[in-house]
Amino acid sequence: MLEGPSIQTDMVKALEDFLSVPRKVAITMHHNPDADALGSALGLARYLKKKGHQTLVISPSAYPGFLEWLPQDGEVIVFEEAETEDIKQAIDACDLVAYLDFSVPSRMEALEPLFSGLDKPSLLLDHHIAPTIQATFHFWDPAAAATAQMVYRLIAAMGDLELLDPHIGEAIYAGIVTDTGSFKYPSTSREVHEIAGHMIDIGVPTSTIHYRIYDNNSENRLRLLGYLLSEKLRVLPEYRTAYFTLSADEQERFCTEKGDTEGFVNYALSIRDIVFAAIFMEKEGKIKISFRSIGSFPVNEFAQAHFNGGGHKNAAGGASHVSLEETEKLFLSLLPQYKEQLLNVKR
Ligand code: 5GP
Ligand code: MN
Repeated sequence: MLEGPSIQTDMVKALEDFLSVPRKVAITMHHNPDADALGSALGLARYLKKKGHQTLVISPSAYPGFLEWLPQDGEVIVFEEAETEDIKQAIDACDLVAYLDFSVPSRMEALEPLFSGLDKPSLLLDHHIAPTIQATFHFWDPAAAATAQMVYRLIAAMGDLELLDPHIGEAIYAGIVTDTGSFKYPSTSREVHEIAGHMIDIGVPTSTIHYRIYDNNSENRLRLLGYLLSEKLRVLPEYRTAYFTLSADEQERFCTEKGDTEGFVNYALSIRDIVFAAIFMEKEGKIKISFRSIGSFPVNEFAQAHFNGGGHKNAAGGASHVSLEETEKLFLSLLPQYKEQLLNVKR
């Protein structure tokens, strides 16, 4: 019932054979991991450990503070904060590398060279469009709501659901909750709810997880949000579009920390009749952009066409290498050609 078409029986069988002896597995995820990247990596790691394998979970960069409750015993190595040579040796000593919640190598950013060119079996679990990684054990479904759902499907297909425990469960649940926008996005299928139900059955404290993730604001983050909403929000009803810009100076003023702006773009999208939202942020010498939409407007195509980016149909990102002001101007100049498409979106 819960085995999606993306979990091919022959791949499962091949992986089962491969895992029939104890293996060392290096698990990685995309840069700036979110709850789905981190949760699915940790869920898979705990599952593999229970099956007698050794695991090494490596994140290219630090994970946000509101996810600090997820890892146990400091089990996540943050590449940016560790010795490159140590991590390289550890990866080289592994039998299997696992890529979670991404399928384009560049999303590992500075960690990419340590994985590229490795001559060893690989495992991919992902739901992003346009994968370029072809893994030995390849489990990919763009219709899946979360990579955590893919991890669950794999565990189910391996016949190992009895190995699930509250620790694995909370990691899977965290990925599902966040990637479905708390069970709001259209990707929230019956299967998603069934998995969530199973998590409740095995004792995952689902309500507590929501509080940990969503009621975990710092005062600075909330004040920055207040400032953006009252001073910076621009609403363009004629294009059903709303957006914010956030300069480096403003971030300094509000002592903004990594991850503090996570989810802000959704406030712009929560305005009645708005179907296209964006946030433009000066970050690390470039303008990092998040796009969100409702319904038929494909922000991944918009991001790819104009901002060297990509992502999902309703959640995408990109970057710009001109100033914040010029980026905003460019964005505004693009809207007229999308006007008709935006006006036709059913909200
Ligand atoms: P966010 O706005 O949360 O940073 O990103 C939303 C989604 O857009 C991510 O899950 C990812 O799939 C995609 N994305 C964000 N930034 C980029 C980018 O620079 N390039 C590509 N190809 N995809 C991105
Ligand atoms: Mn995901």
